Amino acid sequence: MANKSPSSKPTEAAEEPKSTPVDVGAEASSTSRKIYPIVKYGDPILEKQTPLVKNFDAELEQLTEDMFASMYAAQGVGLAAPQIGLGLRLAVVDVTSGKNPEARIVLANPEVIHFEGEKREEEGCLSIPGFRGYVVRPQFVTVKAQDVKGESFEIRGEDLLARAFCHEIDHLHGILFIQHLSMLKRDLIKRKIKKLRKQGEW
Ligand code: ZN
Repeated sequence: MANKSPSSKPTEAAEEPKSTPVDVGAEASSTSRKIYPIVKYGDPILEKQTPLVKNFDAELEQLTEDMFASMYAAQGVGLAAPQIGLGLRLAVVDVTSGKNPEARIVLANPEVIHFEGEKREEEGCLSIPGFRGYVVRPQFVTVKAQDVKGESFEIRGEDLLARAFCHEIDHLHGILFIQHLSMLKRDLIKRKIKKLRKQGEW
């Protein structure tokens, strides 16, 4: 999910500063990570169901670290594997944008097991840069998932965290936030993206 930044407006005029992340070599040093480019709307991988994570190994650990790095680089608060072109039921969330290491959440095979209340807030997506829209989400959700080691856990989220969980879990089922908008608003965004694509700007 895209972070709220002062430049973010609900119009197409808002420009995402980091919409074209570049790869940096993971071999540069032990702390540098692979920054994946974010897959944009239009790529079919964003609208597919994902297979379950089965291998909880060192490779998965590396991948989640790279996903956090890619998410921070893109100034997001959540990133799902399909957004880096990977069909896998895996997402990372950090609503503190890297400020608190303890707020880093890896969600492997997550599912919402309880939700409560409603909240209508503006939402954006790293895969649909420059576009935002109001989406009603539960105010509280409880998610059941596995961590990077495969251990099951439950986590409760409120407000932005609940929204981020729902947004990322949607991604893992091929659902984008624009599907929660009115048909009118959704079609408007789709038309604008089509135009951008024709101009080679998407
Ligand atoms: Zn998203």
